[in-house]
Amino acid sequence: MAAQPASKVPSEALAQLVSGIVTGGIRVVDLTVPLEASTVTIQLPPPFAPSAPFSLQEISRYDERGPGWYWNNIACGEHTGTHFDAPVHWVTGKDYPNNSTHNIPVDRFIGPACVIDVAKQAQENVDFLLTQAVVEEWEKQHGRIPPHAWVLIRTDWSKHGTGKKFLNAGPDGAHTPGFDPKCVPFLAKERDILGVGVETVGTDAGQAHSFDPMFPCHTIMHGSNKFGLASLTNLDQLPPTGAVVIAPPLKIVNGSGSPLRVLALVPV
Ligand code: MN
Repeated sequence: MAAQPASKVPSEALAQLVSGIVTGGIRVVDLTVPLEASTVTIQLPPPFAPSAPFSLQEISRYDERGPGWYWNNIACGEHTGTHFDAPVHWVTGKDYPNNSTHNIPVDRFIGPACVIDVAKQAQENVDFLLTQAVVEEWEKQHGRIPPHAWVLIRTDWSKHGTGKKFLNAGPDGAHTPGFDPKCVPFLAKERDILGVGVETVGTDAGQAHSFDPMFPCHTIMHGSNKFGLASLTNLDQLPPTGAVVIAPPLKIVNGSGSPLRVLALVPV
């Protein structure tokens, strides 16, 4: 598809955006958790290979190693803290063109946010699953999920911070909320979304290894060339509609995902 000529965009739109950010008519909300050694990373049981936690190693700090400058080496798995899942992350998405962090068209990192609030249900049931019926009820109240949208589930799960309750691991796997397997194809195929965002460590529910299909959010979302955003926070500061989410991952060549800073522009 040919790019729209720049002249088609009214210049007032960008001027109003900047003015709103500068004067406070638009609030910028940080949906990102801090990235540090204690940042929680998903734990896979053996024999699956583990992902490294975040680490920071000082190169110099205004000392003999570098008298005028401070900098660090960093290391971590791509799927650490608040992070982006690219379609290539899952075997079902491996054959799409432009499915990695470096070659996804950049306009697909920005879209309107549809925030589905199920915090109460997730508080009552840690294994709560978002069903198609709940999404359809949301659409009755707020309108149909528009094209190019980020669908974010607000569970308030991020309020568990970096404590044990965040992963909520048990002998039978983790117990954290997520998507009902039948809801995922509805969002992925019947709505033209960019992807989904969650407050838990991954986009699938803690018990999703036992679902049919296994890990439906990864299997079907990435199998439909859609994205995931995991370990989001501050979703309680977003309205159901009206916010814009900006979520570009690092441009890692052939990356399956990356930690990122996720921002939401919210009308005041
Ligand atoms: Mn991930």
